[in-house]
Amino acid sequence: MNICYERGIMLVENGKKLLLDPSHQSEIGIVTHGHLDHLVKDAYMTPHTLDILGVRLGERRGKPVPYGEAVNVGGFEGVKLIPAGHVFGSAMVRVNGVLYTGDFNTMGGKTCGRAEPQDCETLILETTYGKREYRLPSKDMVEKDIRTWTEMQMEEGPVVFGAYEFGKAQEIIAILNSMGQTPYVPEKIANICQIYTDHGVDLRYRTGEPEGDFTAVVTPAALKKPASGLAAEARDENGYLAYLSGWCAFYPFFRTMDIDAQFPLSDHAGFDELLDFVHKCDPEQVLTVHGSAKEFCVSVEKELGIEARPLKG
Ligand SMILES: [Zn+2]
Repeated sequence: MNICYERGIMLVENGKKLLLDPSHQSEIGIVTHGHLDHLVKDAYMTPHTLDILGVRLGERRGKPVPYGEAVNVGGFEGVKLIPAGHVFGSAMVRVNGVLYTGDFNTMGGKTCGRAEPQDCETLILETTYGKREYRLPSKDMVEKDIRTWTEMQMEEGPVVFGAYEFGKAQEIIAILNSMGQTPYVPEKIANICQIYTDHGVDLRYRTGEPEGDFTAVVTPAALKKPASGLAAEARDENGYLAYLSGWCAFYPFFRTMDIDAQFPLSDHAGFDELLDFVHKCDPEQVLTVHGSAKEFCVSVEKELGIEARPLKG
């Protein structure tokens, strides 16, 4: 099988052709998840991702493939989508001896399961946090910190979290729900939450004008100085604002955002999880895409003795 990058990750074998995470609408494409840099119409994807596509691109057009079901794509038989633990509906792709992780997380999340290692010959791996210094704390620890901080600040006033509208926002809503809180959210986040609840994920949230000492989840844009929307309303009531992103483990966001705290809640695997995942999949070769693709290959070859190269050269 020949694997290269051509407006997506292209797999070619005996006249068969398949595109993973294509950059354009494609009948032979597989979309791994519903983040905007991955969504294109007409491709194969999980039913969850297809519903997310409908809300985010305004037209629900694509071919739904439930997790674990074998389908024929571009002539390749037995193509399977497997939970990736990145966001709701996210999938890794299995094609013969090839495993493509897409964006993935072995620590998973409350609303998206987790990625499990799979035996394979070729592993195509996303390496957003592929540099050795990109080590992330455990999700349990981050959640514990968020809970403690929230409990403390709620004694003083409203508490608002800024998180990306799809994936991260629903994770923090689930965490707040587990603390007995029903956060306010803007319409943009509510529309996406609706898809989760339609699929049976228990998320409690509300829209409208907040009252008293409320909690809320907003998009990161609302935290940009000066704070806006629900974040500004919380500030007026002496409330507290926090930002959630994996990058919070490495960079401060206090200069550009009106925040009191930041927490490294990530939906990607950190460096340690990436290396452990490769070790457990035990492939013959590793191809890397995104982020620190080159740096991670050096670590794989040195520490695991497995041949590795970035796919885009
Ligand atoms: Zn993503």
